[in-house]
Amino acid sequence: MPELLVRNGFVYDPLNGINGERMDIAIKNGKIVEKVDRRRKTIDASGMIVMPGGVDIHSHIVGGKVNSGRMLRPEDHFKDFEVKTEITRSGVGHSIPSTFTTGYRYARMGYTTVFDPAMPPLKARHTHEELNDTPMIDKASYPLLGDCWYVLEPLSKGLFEECAAYVAWTLEATKGYAIKIVNPGGLEAWGFGRNMRNIDDTVPHFGITPRDILRGLCKVNKLLNLPHTIHVHTNNLGKPGNYTTCLETMKCVEDLATDNKPVMHLTHCQFSSFKGEDWVTFESGAEEIAKYVNNHNHITTDMGQVVFGETTTMTADGPFQYILYQLSHNKWVNSDVETETSTGIVPFKYKKSSFVHATQWSIGLELALLVTDPWKMYMTTDHPNASPFTNYPKIVSWLLSKVAREKLMKKISKRAQHKSLLPTIDREYTLSELTIATRAGPARALGLKDKGHLGIGADADIAIYNINPEQIDISKKYRSVRRAFKHAAYTIKDGVVVVKDGEIVKSVNGRTYWVKAETSKALQEFVPKLKETFEDYYTVQYENYPVPEHHVAVSSPLVVKAEV
Ligand SMILES: [Zn+2]
Repeated sequence: MPELLVRNGFVYDPLNGINGERMDIAIKNGKIVEKVDRRRKTIDASGMIVMPGGVDIHSHIVGGKVNSGRMLRPEDHFKDFEVKTEITRSGVGHSIPSTFTTGYRYARMGYTTVFDPAMPPLKARHTHEELNDTPMIDKASYPLLGDCWYVLEPLSKGLFEECAAYVAWTLEATKGYAIKIVNPGGLEAWGFGRNMRNIDDTVPHFGITPRDILRGLCKVNKLLNLPHTIHVHTNNLGKPGNYTTCLETMKCVEDLATDNKPVMHLTHCQFSSFKGEDWVTFESGAEEIAKYVNNHNHITTDMGQVVFGETTTMTADGPFQYILYQLSHNKWVNSDVETETSTGIVPFKYKKSSFVHATQWSIGLELALLVTDPWKMYMTTDHPNASPFTNYPKIVSWLLSKVAREKLMKKISKRAQHKSLLPTIDREYTLSELTIATRAGPARALGLKDKGHLGIGADADIAIYNINPEQIDISKKYRSVRRAFKHAAYTIKDGVVVVKDGEIVKSVNGRTYWVKAETSKALQEFVPKLKETFEDYYTVQYENYPVPEHHVAVSSPLVVKAEV
């Protein structure tokens, strides 16, 4: 592997306190190093921005429901396709791109790490087959654990260590990365045509509440020393008035944060920040949510930003997708995944003329601009739920430029314009804050020590954008910003130039991260017990359930020592 020197760019590396200074970055053997010798290759980054590669903490790119979505929506494919080249494979998809296309499109935007947030443990094999076929990026997936019988049963008896044994076993069996909780209790209830109304509702047959599940898994997360916190999609997501549920969800783990560190990641916050009694009185709850996040350090969150246009919604929140189907009357998919979770898919179009959709657009940006600390708020669209990830450059421009926001504001529903808080917010992200929201912050929240920064020893994942902050007023020239962030001048993955001038010049395989939590002998004794009951609960044999490590193309286990 040749040594490489990225010369004279404006470097943004907030984790190392570097804020747009002109610097060289030296690369050797896929890592950032102090210096390289004279025979190295050089990239002249003069007049360009240099950042760590983008890190996406929440993007539905692979697995059972994503693939069902692809089958449900042929119209998503023929409008948008990738032509085969000597380097790249062909592919399709606007909102649900095929696997290879997903990798290429992320790389073109300078992204090098993408984590999928929702893997039913039972569908882990398929999820990894798709991850193996997603090139260019490092990746991982979070198993859905908030409604799994093996979690609910011990939690209902207060047996946290037994629950931890199951979670550790599942992370290894599914080659998963973090504990994902979606509408806790609601997905189990959905199997009986019910849902959870609030965090103190009772889950049928188990006699526990969403609060018990959230607190229980938060404790388990700490017992296992997992690199990421619990990753939470709230109850009542997508319903008017749900900001109170969101506040209660954040509050319910407040006392579990002992060292001023985050213990919960609240994902796609926009969908959980609705005020009002119904869709007529619907309004933004962003101020209340942002105020809480600003005053507490145990929460990190991401936007779930709406971008107007056509997309496909998909989530494990089956009961919510039923509501969305009733609102849209579109074709849809809904399913129950045995003892583990549920799923729903509904095509959707966010319209500027719709008061609700336009207010949702405003809420996402209000949250991002009112949460003052960028280390707590990351850029996502909950791809593809609020928009395909390919719209990130638009969001970047709205974060950096009030003018860009105002321009679009004039075109949205008049009623939404009058109610929006955006005209009262002058804040524009600095490039350093943008770097935090799109790479440094998510990398830190995920416990990825070699990502999200450009210090010595970091993975040489780098994005270079052709925009000169000394010559261009970024807050005014938002179209230039969009162009630059849409087509990275260079994307470097593990020290290899993979994108040049927005085009793929080399295809590489990224690693798949998963977490191996080493538990005590006592805890491992729960596993045979699991085997005993497996055949009572599942349609698959215990032996066929775990994904063997050789099934993962570039396996990258992160070993942690559990406290139990
Ligand atoms: Zn999601």
